Amino acid sequence: MATWQCVKQCGACCYLAPEERPDLEEYLSPEELQLYLSLVTESGWCRHYDHDTRECGIYEKRPSFCRVDAIEYEQRYGIAPDDLDEFAIDCCREHIADIHGDRSLEMIRFDRAVGKPRILRPQADR
Ligand code: SF4
Ligand code: SF4
Repeated sequence: MATWQCVKQCGACCYLAPEERPDLEEYLSPEELQLYLSLVTESGWCRHYDHDTRECGIYEKRPSFCRVDAIEYEQRYGIAPDDLDEFAIDCCREHIADIHGDRSLEMIRFDRAVGKPRILRPQADR
């Protein structure tokens, strides 16, 4: 079974543009939504995301909605702890595909790290 983990030098989930995440109100409280929106810069990236290191500048103090853990996911998304890995892996793959691309180095590194076989979209006929 694949086990979720975050990989370094990715940062795809720190692109917070609300237009890319139309369901925010479904899983954030009004206070969290306010906090979330306060993090978004004009470019759509989180103000705490360091583009040089590709790391969170407030990692230890990052908001709860940035954390992947069983209790958080069960309460926020209704995901049973046994399904956390699969759900979190799918979320990361979606973010990575959007930001870096389906066949990017980041996607390859992520798939290797979580031990998930690569799922590639079929190429269009030439
Ligand atoms: S998208 Fe996933 S792997 Fe990439 S930085 Fe976010 S949590 Fe880590
Ligand atoms: S607070 Fe940190 S982990 Fe959360 S979106 Fe911003 S940079 Fe990413």
